[in-house]
Amino acid sequence: MSEVVATLEYQGKQYTVHKHDWTHPDEDADEQEQERLVWWMWTEGNYGCDCNRFAFISYEHDDWPGESDESGKFPCGETITLVGLTLDGKDLLAPDPEMQMRERLAAIGLKPAWTLLGDFER
Ligand SMILES: [Zn+2]
Repeated sequence: MSEVVATLEYQGKQYTVHKHDWTHPDEDADEQEQERLVWWMWTEGNYGCDCNRFAFISYEHDDWPGESDESGKFPCGETITLVGLTLDGKDLLAPDPEMQMRERLAAIGLKPAWTLLGDFER
């Protein structure tokens, strides 16, 4: 099991949240695959949305921001910024020449939007 630590910023304030028992669904996944999945989950995936980020903040911080609705759900949106992300202490947001965004997206089968516009490679 791994520990994911994310730092989220909302209205000028930073909140650190932890997932202590994160595991890759594929137990044979190597370190790079694990890093890619965590990065994806917190950017393009479910944890990229305010509703989940508000919930994570509320678990660990008494002064959590945002209002939940009657059913306890937080609104979706992109008002909470991800400013830090580590997997077992490794910084996943640090610039890494071997794992640029294009590679990361390609690794999970997505094409960056700008390649769909054509001519990017020329
Ligand atoms: Zn949402």
